[in-house]
Amino acid sequence: MRESESTEREPKRRGPLCSRQTSEMAMSPRSRVAMAVAAHPDDIEFTMSGTLMLLGQAGYKLHYMNIANGYCGSVTLGREEIAAIRLWEAQAAAAMIGADFHPPLVDDIEIFHEPPLIRKLCAIVRQVSPEILLLPSPQDYMEDHQNASRAMVTAAFCRNIPNYVSDPPTPHVDSQMAIYHAMPMGLADQHRNPIRPGIFVDVSSVMEAKRRMLACHASQKDWLDATQGHGNYMRLMDDMARQVGGLSGRFAYAEGWRQHLHLGFGSEDFDPLGDALQGYALKW
Ligand SMILES: [Zn+2]
Repeated sequence: MRESESTEREPKRRGPLCSRQTSEMAMSPRSRVAMAVAAHPDDIEFTMSGTLMLLGQAGYKLHYMNIANGYCGSVTLGREEIAAIRLWEAQAAAAMIGADFHPPLVDDIEIFHEPPLIRKLCAIVRQVSPEILLLPSPQDYMEDHQNASRAMVTAAFCRNIPNYVSDPPTPHVDSQMAIYHAMPMGLADQHRNPIRPGIFVDVSSVMEAKRRMLACHASQKDWLDATQGHGNYMRLMDDMARQVGGLSGRFAYAEGWRQHLHLGFGSEDFDPLGDALQGYALKW
């Protein structure tokens, strides 16, 4: 056996998985695509839509997805009927900001960190290849929200692993990605500990559009207004944005974010959201 053959057949020496991927990803072209993925119809509107719109204004192609169909969102309509209404409402909200819409994959309360769902989510991540991925808080009062966050982190991590087979099978992509987690409802984790954002995005200039987007979810607005008083639905979102704005000490209305650790996703200083939203973003 010649020496060259012997060398070729030796396994390539490689560094740890994360550092090897990170250095290769840093060389790849940027996608200028931002994707928001949440658990249920209207979650994006409560915690992410202002930032998503500002990224659209900054030139990003937008994608919008809720993992579950929202069928638990009514006490009077049957599951198929309310799921169909909420699909239409979410499509209308996505269309309002020119975002590509991805249909839900599972029923409410059935978002779990399990292989069949993660394979489907990975196929979507590979097709869309966003460089900015907006996700729910990994800590939240509702387990669908937590599980949506965790399942998507795993799906995104697997996007560039050639041996990981997505459903449907989709070629892996070598690209840098930055993940940002939104604020939980109540601005606290499930143990009542306050969650503080590392990044505040000033959404004051898009609050009217954020309200119109939320108003697309008429089935939820009507339900909450009927049970908790007129105007309650919109007020809930307004109050949250005002509260986060107050935490910033600078903005009237804000959305808060925590950036996921870069390992497995990109270089340490890769912060496309901060770069794109200069003038709107305040780092804490
Ligand atoms: Zn939700």
